[in-house]
Amino acid sequence: MANDNNRFQAIISHCKEYGFIFPSSEIYDGLSAVYDYGQWGSELKKNIKDYWWKSMTQLHENIVGIDAAIFMHPTTWKASGHVDNFSDPMIDNKDSKKRYRVDHLIEAEADRLENEGKKNEADALLTEMDKLLAASDFDGLKKLIEDRKIKCSISGTSNWTDVRQFNLMFSTQLGSVTDEASEIYLRPETAQGIFVNFLNVQKTGRMKIPFGIAQIGKAFRNEIVARQFIFRMREFEQMEMQFFIRPGSQKEWYEHWKKERMDWHLSLGIPAEKYRFHDHVKLAHYADAACDIEYEFPIGFKEVEGIHSRTDFDLRNHQEYSKKKMQYFDNDLDANGKPYGNYIPYVIETSIGLDRTFLMVISEAYTEEDLSTADKQDSRVVLKLPAKLAPVKLAVFPLIKRDGLPEIAKQIMDDCKSQFRCFYEEKDAIGKRYRRMDAIGTPFCITIDHQTKEDNTVTIRYRDTMQQERISVTAIKEIVGSHIV
Ligand code: ATP
Repeated sequence: MANDNNRFQAIISHCKEYGFIFPSSEIYDGLSAVYDYGQWGSELKKNIKDYWWKSMTQLHENIVGIDAAIFMHPTTWKASGHVDNFSDPMIDNKDSKKRYRVDHLIEAEADRLENEGKKNEADALLTEMDKLLAASDFDGLKKLIEDRKIKCSISGTSNWTDVRQFNLMFSTQLGSVTDEASEIYLRPETAQGIFVNFLNVQKTGRMKIPFGIAQIGKAFRNEIVARQFIFRMREFEQMEMQFFIRPGSQKEWYEHWKKERMDWHLSLGIPAEKYRFHDHVKLAHYADAACDIEYEFPIGFKEVEGIHSRTDFDLRNHQEYSKKKMQYFDNDLDANGKPYGNYIPYVIETSIGLDRTFLMVISEAYTEEDLSTADKQDSRVVLKLPAKLAPVKLAVFPLIKRDGLPEIAKQIMDDCKSQFRCFYEEKDAIGKRYRRMDAIGTPFCITIDHQTKEDNTVTIRYRDTMQQERISVTAIKEIVGSHIV
């Protein structure tokens, strides 16, 4: 199992040093598992968002988007099962007072066993854990941890409390009155904003089943174990799509979306061997089938996206709690020539974390290259981002700060900047400027020199190969433009 902690730490440092990600409120020593995106991070994040949004909505005629509020009526979360079920079994180490998610503690032990070559033992441990989790057998889980002598990584002891449930939703008060009725939650997933708007969208958009509703937005979870940079945050963003279908067709659509979503991942230029599907043995309370798309992060294979066959669980429960019909009238004919009639649609959900996708994209792109020659030690860090996701597409450099070169460079910049993100810089030697652009993943740099004044050509330098060639100023937009669609 690949677990390259040094590489992971190098990526975290790089993200901070080059303005991608900062710890939240850092001047106050940060806030645990909360992060801010800086000048280049926010651009990269937005580009990932736009790419997902376009591929889901613009390229699917039967999928539309919405943007629902973070605050929702509190009954939403009773109907969705989050008030009762959105909790994880936790255990505390009595000596270090550190709290662990039981499944994470046992999974870490299984990883350890696997790394020692005891794969069968690790698999048996995970199977036993899945069985106990599925049965909510907390005493059994505690016994498993004790029998295996699993230790706390801080205290080194196996002095454990009982296993308890811990709800992951953040709550706050609506309005000025603090009574129970005014307690509301910060949404732990964006999906429910889609379900409660199912009929609004279906009716106003005259949508016919099968159709989907997509949404990108913030979600909040009071994660207990949250120390893997932006992999697990307490405030994060999801890109979700709920696809409404006829009951009985869920298997076929589930397979369809598994393939579509994997194709999307591959379209990022990430090789297939860096991905795998993980089928869930223990299904969430709403699902009849579920799997994760896992990517091989520097810290090992981990979930980036979940694909869930959610049955009619959500719409049925909203119908029950709201007393409003959540039904669809299907006048298509079935095999017997009869209209399908009224039903509560089934749902296939694709749910991908934006921040995890960001981490995936940057982990894949981060490259340390040794460029040493016989007479000179040299190296560079380059982000080999797909050009369509890169924060800056084109850097424009005058070779020197005089002789009218900055004026020409600024003119080129002005001509290009309405079409794609450009960056102008005239400080430092050209080599240094190239390296700074490599570090933020800028795919193209152009340099304006004295020859430009004579023949209207510039040097274009390609990030990945570092090759340079002379092109006409009039070709710049076309070259860059053709790589970023
Ligand atoms: P995990 O098992 O890692 O906690 P999950 O199965 O609870 O994730 P889902 O509820 O299926 O996750 O959420 C869908 C997606 O949202 C996940 O695949 C992940 O990319 C993202 N996500 C979930 N929780 C977090 C978090 N705390 N921080 C960042 N992204 C998250």
